[in-house]
Amino acid sequence: MDPTVASASVTSPSDWRYVSEGGSTIVLSYSGPPHPIFSGTVLRLRKIAIQHSAPEGSNDSNENNEPDDPSIAFQLKVISKLIPPIHLPRLVTVRVDRSWLETLRSLIESVRPSERRSKDTVDVRRHKAVLATDLVGGEGWTVEIKPKWGFLPNLAHTSAETSFIKSQRCRFCMHSHYRTLRGENASHEYCPLDLYSGNAERTAHALRCLWKDWVRSEGRLNNLKLFARGKLVDSNDRKMKSPPPSDEREDKLIEYVVAALLPLLLGTPVLRSVARLQRMLDPLDIEGLFSLYDTYRATRNDDIPPLEKLFPDPTLDEWVDFVGSYRPLDSLATLDRLESEHARLHFYTMAYLLSATFKDCSLMLQLERGEGKYDTITVIDLDPKSMSRLKRWAELDHDIATAYPKDDVRCCRDDTT
Ligand SMILES: [Zn+2]
Repeated sequence: MDPTVASASVTSPSDWRYVSEGGSTIVLSYSGPPHPIFSGTVLRLRKIAIQHSAPEGSNDSNENNEPDDPSIAFQLKVISKLIPPIHLPRLVTVRVDRSWLETLRSLIESVRPSERRSKDTVDVRRHKAVLATDLVGGEGWTVEIKPKWGFLPNLAHTSAETSFIKSQRCRFCMHSHYRTLRGENASHEYCPLDLYSGNAERTAHALRCLWKDWVRSEGRLNNLKLFARGKLVDSNDRKMKSPPPSDEREDKLIEYVVAALLPLLLGTPVLRSVARLQRMLDPLDIEGLFSLYDTYRATRNDDIPPLEKLFPDPTLDEWVDFVGSYRPLDSLATLDRLESEHARLHFYTMAYLLSATFKDCSLMLQLERGEGKYDTITVIDLDPKSMSRLKRWAELDHDIATAYPKDDVRCCRDDTT
């Protein structure tokens, strides 16, 4: 391995404090003595399903063959062409080793949520991890928002069965309803189109809805998380030590948070950029994408695999070419220029995957960080998505749209065009 890559093993595992985790990674923040590399950073470790975790003494993969985490190069060479790097965390590779990871794993297991602990654990066979800017530590507080889909689809490509409802309700609102029908935790009021609107009143309303959902779901919905001084705030214990200031009245606390977040959200083009990218990269809707595939398959005599198996996951070079040739607002012209149907389908499938990355990202809003430091907004969780998800996305889209009651008169307002 490259000897210039720093090793996290020079720190004590007890210097790392559990922050949070998603479906595939666990995030820990450095809280040890001042260190030129690790101070102000978080470590992102890959997880592995319990049934696949290696038994003691099993062979590790070859240290020299292990590639860097793909999220690093993807951000550096692809995402940074679309989102200004000032709004992206710094990501670098660090070395880790098994005994260090095993000690760390034993230290953090007890603080992980039990529903996560029963499913997966730290993958101790890895030799590399990702070191990223710590966006939750320090003196201030951080709000993490997962805004989700910020646009209504282009109805030119949706089916007769779904067009009406897709013209009325956004994907998130339909999905929330679907989750409620299934007895799952779901948002009650939050509509992403309000958050993305650029309108102060609607953005404030979206923030209040996110806050209420967070409290109501006892933090189990992941659209809003709050961190104070590096720690995830428990939604049941939200009368925190300042900041934000403790207050007996819930409504005052919400308004304090809304007032702090509004200037940051309204003063940056980042939020609208995310919505614009989601829309531009998904001009056909998943229904239109699969129609394009059906047309392509109908014109061929040979056996064509299903769409999710038709193309391998794009390589980094393919992604670099894609963003290099991609011109927002020019996708239909690009479509006409592509000579073969195969190339056309490949183009739109890659675009859909990249749109999905932006539909699933989170915003980290850092506030009141201390003297001389500005409030900042950073976009995270911008990992590449896999072709294998396409089938499930199409099925879910159909289930969500057809389950929505057609007599519901509420509308989601899309002003992001
Ligand atoms: Zn909506």
